[in-house]
Amino acid sequence: MFDIEAIRSDFPALNHHQQQGIVYLDSAATSQKPQCVIDAVSHFYENGNANVHRGAHRLSSDATKCYEQSRAKVAQFINCHANELVWTKGATEAINLVAYGLTPLVGKDEVILISELEHHANIVPWQQLAKRSGASLRAIPVDVDGIINTEQALELIKELKPKVLAISHASNALGNIQQVETLIKAAKAYDAFTLVDGAQSLLHLRPDVKALDCDFFVFSAHKCLGPTGIGGLYGRYPCLEALEVFQTGGEMVTKVSIEQAEFNPPPGKFETGTPNIAGVVGFGAAIDYLSTLDMEQVREHEMQLFTYLHQQLAQFSQVRILGDLNNNIGTISFVVSGEHPYDLATLMDMEGIALRHGHHCAQPLMAALGVNGTVRVSLAFYNNQADVDAFIAALANTLEMIA
Ligand code: PMP
Repeated sequence: MFDIEAIRSDFPALNHHQQQGIVYLDSAATSQKPQCVIDAVSHFYENGNANVHRGAHRLSSDATKCYEQSRAKVAQFINCHANELVWTKGATEAINLVAYGLTPLVGKDEVILISELEHHANIVPWQQLAKRSGASLRAIPVDVDGIINTEQALELIKELKPKVLAISHASNALGNIQQVETLIKAAKAYDAFTLVDGAQSLLHLRPDVKALDCDFFVFSAHKCLGPTGIGGLYGRYPCLEALEVFQTGGEMVTKVSIEQAEFNPPPGKFETGTPNIAGVVGFGAAIDYLSTLDMEQVREHEMQLFTYLHQQLAQFSQVRILGDLNNNIGTISFVVSGEHPYDLATLMDMEGIALRHGHHCAQPLMAALGVNGTVRVSLAFYNNQADVDAFIAALANTLEMIA
């Protein structure tokens, strides 16, 4: 049984928020952390704390063991081999790593294809690759509600024959789930490198990278119950081998002379310097926690809340809801005619509701939608109906106040 109150009690910040009269509806920005993650991080510093992959002493070998165990856990969670998983600071660094690493493999007459609804993290690194390589950057358009028409996207892939397809699994601004498998399959017909930005999907959809059949998949731990400053890149092994190294220095090398260096095989060739060991250990605990939950029940709970949320929201005639309500991770974006999202979010904060407002690091999407920003409510499985009721009551007060 999915016991929401038992789950909520695993998240100490939710209890703290409750005492402060705050309702957290900003999980797309970062998720809350269960106690076991907080404990794993402090346990590491209190009891282990040594550097990894160096030192004969037992503290170092224990730290290395925990660090590599977490890699194996996360790899299993997304269904890849541990040596196909590179630790990075997060999704942003992982996309930069791939975009930089592809530099020698992308030619000047080739096309890098993204979509209009990408987070800036999945736009700007490709702009830089286009500048370095002379390739052109193109974007799959969205419709007036911010939805990608898959048929139209397939036509565009056929026309452009892209060398790279980089697309988000789920939109951070609107919550839409893209038909990534279909798009990847089409792009593969032209031997494209395919990257899925899984920053928003890891928590809600438990992606299987082999089923997606992408070459690369990126994520951030902090959006999936883990600590900040850690995330990862899955890469199909030959694709990781083919990438140019990104950052260089200690640890990623096997042999160094003054003139040159030999690099480790993947994933080591991308992991230079002392990593975020405590972050990796904490993320391992987050994955352990998630693995105890029944995914079907989690998704059902999130979708029940989401349906309730948009039905309640639809009662306000001044509210325009954006995005795809039928394929969604549980994030809703809306605008209120004549009101600035910042003003609304500030007034909602005064009512104790923690929301996000603005362009959500997706300015091309905002331009395509013809809005300067939105107000975003993002749910996670630890939210309950009382959270949604509190949001709706606060919105009713706010709209009445500004009427
Ligand atoms: N892609 C998407 C879809 C995101 O939502 C985010 C974070 N908002 C990122 C990439 C970047 O993630 P991070 O800031 O953790 O690197």
